[in-house]
Amino acid sequence: MYDVTIIGAGVVGCAIARELSKYNLKILQLEKSDDVSNGASKANSGIVHGGYAAKHGTLKGKLCFEGNRLYKKLNEELNFGYKKTGALVIGFDEKDEENIKKLYENGIKNGVFKNEMRIIYKDEILELEPNINKDVKVALLAEDVGITSPYEMTIALAENAVKNGVELKLENEVLDIIENIDYYTVITNKGEYKTKYIINAAGVFSDKISKMVGIDNFYIKPRKGQYIIFHKGYGKIINRVIFQTPTKKGKGILVTPTYHGNLMIGPNADEVSKKEDLSTDVETLKYIISTARKSVPNIDLRKVLTSFSGIRPTPSTGDFIIEESKERFINVAGIESPGLTSSPAIARMVLGILKSSGLKMIKKTDFDPYRPPIIIKKDLSYKEVNKMLNIDSPNQIICRCEMVSKKEIIDALNRGIHIKSIDAIKRRTRAGMGFCQGEFCGPRVRKVIAETLNIPEDEVPQRGKGSGIIPKKVNLNYFKNLGI
Ligand SMILES: Cc1cc2nc3c(=O)[nH]c(=O)nc-3n(C[C@H](O)[C@H](O)[C@H](O)COP(=O)(O)OP(=O)(O)OC[C@H]3O[C@@H](n4cnc5c(N)ncnc54)[C@H](O)[C@@H]3O)c2cc1C
Repeated sequence: MYDVTIIGAGVVGCAIARELSKYNLKILQLEKSDDVSNGASKANSGIVHGGYAAKHGTLKGKLCFEGNRLYKKLNEELNFGYKKTGALVIGFDEKDEENIKKLYENGIKNGVFKNEMRIIYKDEILELEPNINKDVKVALLAEDVGITSPYEMTIALAENAVKNGVELKLENEVLDIIENIDYYTVITNKGEYKTKYIINAAGVFSDKISKMVGIDNFYIKPRKGQYIIFHKGYGKIINRVIFQTPTKKGKGILVTPTYHGNLMIGPNADEVSKKEDLSTDVETLKYIISTARKSVPNIDLRKVLTSFSGIRPTPSTGDFIIEESKERFINVAGIESPGLTSSPAIARMVLGILKSSGLKMIKKTDFDPYRPPIIIKKDLSYKEVNKMLNIDSPNQIICRCEMVSKKEIIDALNRGIHIKSIDAIKRRTRAGMGFCQGEFCGPRVRKVIAETLNIPEDEVPQRGKGSGIIPKKVNLNYFKNLGI
């Protein structure tokens, strides 16, 4: 009998698992995919949004502000990578200026300090960001905005939760839930589990899980967002996250450096019918390019690496749904943006719900909050990297674009989460994220995985079961043909 079963291992499920692992509880986490962070948490903007971003009076507004404030300490403990860059929300006319003033007021109401936000004008904007469109008139400078690597954060939370006793079962798809007098039976493709409490953190499928216990007062609309990512190092053309003034449709197309120094533009927001269709298309990418160039006109398409997309779990209610919807069944549903930012605060809120529902919670004395990083920063020349490609040593370089060593891949495989795909290693070490997009290092990574796990190479998949079909993507040559 488990005390708590968490369904879903995205950033929300994993933040909850890690928070609960501080207590003497028997915790189970079920994930249908072959790895954590295979849903919305792997493909998003990676922005730790500022307190101004979500509407005051909503759960989103409260939890986004609170979550933002928890990132620094969380990153010090878990080493997933977080940088406070600040952001500019830029405007080009009087209407934008009006809306920017409203954002400022909203931020103050949400709790942002006055010294963390400022409205600034053309000369100062161009001084801070020389590559911005010279037609800019006004901007909100929000100092509390940051960038993170969303899948590395989710992985770090999961590794630390597992280290502190959470039982994470991958490739366990919840098919049904049976209600008993004082416990639930959760039925998966791999077996049945008895549990006192259930936490539904199944992202875009959280409505389906909720219906299993008869709660169907909301539904989740999948809303796709597409992105283009550029070469590592190219993120330097800007210093901060650049947003345009938001509209009713959302925060609009942003231009941002990623935590690892790439440039990224996107996302659009399109309601789609399929909950797992991660394809990208030419028309949308053209729109993203032209809109992003309104912010930063000289974005160089010769530096494009690839395109990708993510699906937002947009709730029919318009706000996060976090409540004990039925006795001992807690919905944490519809966690769209700013869900990544809010996740540490969501976890605390769920803890409070469990406490007031009567779950006995006693703090562990041996909780270990620390998780060491996987990626080791290296400062090697091209020549040195080439020399290290075939050496017989743990320092052998396996991925030359991102300088990933054999040692880092072996470390990633030995952190208590049973992964074996090339993509799982890519998210943990960045092997395959560089210029060649895995063409050179893919087979080399496969060999290290096979050797480490002592399995034949043909049993190492590119992506594992449940991580969805390989999405159709726009061919890179398309961007080259578009010119600069
Ligand atoms: C385009 C886009 C941009 C975004 N940008 C930002 C941003 O910049 N900043 C920010 O704060 N937020 C952002 N977000 C929002 C953020 O990504 C989400 O709020 C967050 O990732 C949601 O996490 P989750 O754990 O609820 O969902 P998910 O990550 O989707 O996790 C749900 C998990 O449940 C599993 N699951 C589903 N059904 C079952 C089942 N039956 N059995 C077992 N497991 C199941 C899935 O496989 C999945 O792993 C963005 C989202 C998108 C899509």
